[in-house]
Amino acid sequence: MSQPTTAAPALPFEHTYAGLPARFHQRVAPTPVSAPRWLAFNDALAGELGLGSLRESPGALAMLAGNALPDNAQPIAMAYAGHQFGHFVPQLGDGRAILLGELIDTHGQRRDLQLKGAGPTRFSRGGDGRAAIGPVLREFLVSEAMHAMGVPTTRALAAVATGDPVMRERPVPGAVLARVAASHLRVGSFQYFAAQEDADGVRVLTDYAIARHFPALAGEAKPALALLQAVAERQAALVAQWMHVGFVHGVMNTDNCAISGETIDYGPCAFLDEYDPGKVFSSIDRGGRYAFGNQAAAARWNLARLAECLLPLIDSEPEAALAQASAVINAFPDRFRAHWLAGMRRKLGLSGEEDGDEALAQALLEAMHAVAADYTLVFRGLCLAAEDREAATGDLLALPKSPGFDAWRQRWRDRLAREAQSPRARADAMRQANPAVIPRNHQVEAALVAAESGDLAPFESLLAAVRQPWHEHPDYMQAPRPDQRVARTFCGT
Ligand code: AMP
Ligand code: MG
Repeated sequence: MSQPTTAAPALPFEHTYAGLPARFHQRVAPTPVSAPRWLAFNDALAGELGLGSLRESPGALAMLAGNALPDNAQPIAMAYAGHQFGHFVPQLGDGRAILLGELIDTHGQRRDLQLKGAGPTRFSRGGDGRAAIGPVLREFLVSEAMHAMGVPTTRALAAVATGDPVMRERPVPGAVLARVAASHLRVGSFQYFAAQEDADGVRVLTDYAIARHFPALAGEAKPALALLQAVAERQAALVAQWMHVGFVHGVMNTDNCAISGETIDYGPCAFLDEYDPGKVFSSIDRGGRYAFGNQAAAARWNLARLAECLLPLIDSEPEAALAQASAVINAFPDRFRAHWLAGMRRKLGLSGEEDGDEALAQALLEAMHAVAADYTLVFRGLCLAAEDREAATGDLLALPKSPGFDAWRQRWRDRLAREAQSPRARADAMRQANPAVIPRNHQVEAALVAAESGDLAPFESLLAAVRQPWHEHPDYMQAPRPDQRVARTFCGT
C-alpha cells in the first residue's frame, strides 16, 4: 500500500471497529492527491469533536485530502453487502471511503472520521475510488441543512479539492469529503456476514452494534431482538422527520440504511418543491421505489432484511425467531405513523391531541397535491395564518386559493379554536417546526455549477442560509420558476 509522507496532526483516534476480525475490513491507506485546497471547513463540527484549531494545524489539509496519515491512524475500508433497488449484491463495501479512526466528541459520543473519495480499495469494483466536487459539496450542504433542522445525519467536517480531475460524463474536478458519523454500520453490514453464512461474524457485529449504539440493551434477555426493535424505532423517527421537511433520500438501499438512525449517503437526494407523494428525482430510480411517499415502506423493507440476518440470534427455534422478528417489522408502520403524526401536529400548531388530527393532516396534503402547492411555503404560510396575519395574495407566503384549500382552512381553524395556546405562542412554535429555508434543488444546482468553475461564493451563501432554516431569508425561499426546476438528480459516482 502506498504511504503518504507529509506529517499530519496528532488526533486522539481510537479504533474499535478496526479491532474487529480481519474479514470485517481491509487495511488500506488513502491514495495521495496532487494539490489539496480547502473548499469548505466546518468549524462548529470541529469544535464539537474537540478539534477546534484543526483547520489551522499544519498538515490538517494534507490529512483531510488523504496525503498525510496521523501516526496513530489505522485506515480501513469497511466490508458490507446490500440490496440495491431490491437486488442483492453480496459484496459492496467502502469502494472509495476510508475510515481514519474514531474520535470521542465533547458530549462523550464516539464518532467515525472517514474520507470519502480517498482512492481505491479492494471494494472499488472497477470504480476510481474518487469523488467529484459537485456531489461532495452537495453532501456538505444538504447534511448541514438536515442537521440544522434537527434531523439525525452524518456530518461533513471538510471538503477538500484534490487538484486531480475525475472522469464522469466528462472530466470534473475531484474532491474529498471528510465525513463524521455516529458509525458507518449499515443494514448491509449484517447482510455481508449473513449471506456468507458466517454466524460468528453476525454475532460479533451484533455485539459491536449494541455496545456502540444501544449499550443499555446488552443486559436484555434477547439482545438481538432488542437491537432490531431499537433500530426500527430510530428508522421510524428518522423517516418521519424526512417527511416533515419534504426530503427525498433517493437511494434507500440497505447499504445506505444506518444502524445509528442517521441519514447517510446524500447521492441523488432532493427536497420537494410542490407536494407530490409520488415524487422521484433520482435518475436511477426508474420504478419509483424510493418515491417521497414510499419512504416508510422502503425503511420497513430494509428492516425486514436486517431481521433476516438476526433470526438465528433471536431464537434457536426458527419459527419462534420468525414470529418475534415479524412482530417488530409488522409494528413498524404504526411506529412510523406515531412519529409522523406527532411532527405533523407540531407543523399544524396543535399542542393537544384529537382523534381527527391525522385526517386533518392528510386532508391538507390532499388539498396541496390537488393544486401542486409548494410544501415548504404552505406550512410557512400557515405560521402566519395561525396568528391571523395571513399573507396577501401574491406574497411568497400566501396560501393557495382553491375550494379544497378554503374548506381545509376552516376545518383547521375550528380545530385550533379548541386549543388553549395563544395564537402568538402557537405561531412561534410553528416557526420552529416548519423550515423557511431548505436547500432548494435549483439553488443547490446553481451553487454546485458555480463551484465547479471555481466560484465558491454561491455555495457559501447558500450554506449560511440553510444553517438557519427557521429564519426567513426570502432570497432562498422562492420556489423554482418553471425554467429553474430540477427534474432529475444524479449520484455522480
Ligand atoms: P453508493 O451508491 O454511494 O451507495 O455506493 C454503492 C457502492 O458503490 C459502494 O460500495 C461504494 O463504495 C461504491 N462506489 C460508489 N462510487 C464509487 C467510486 N467512484 N469508486 C469506487 N467505488 C464506488
Ligand atoms: Mg452508499
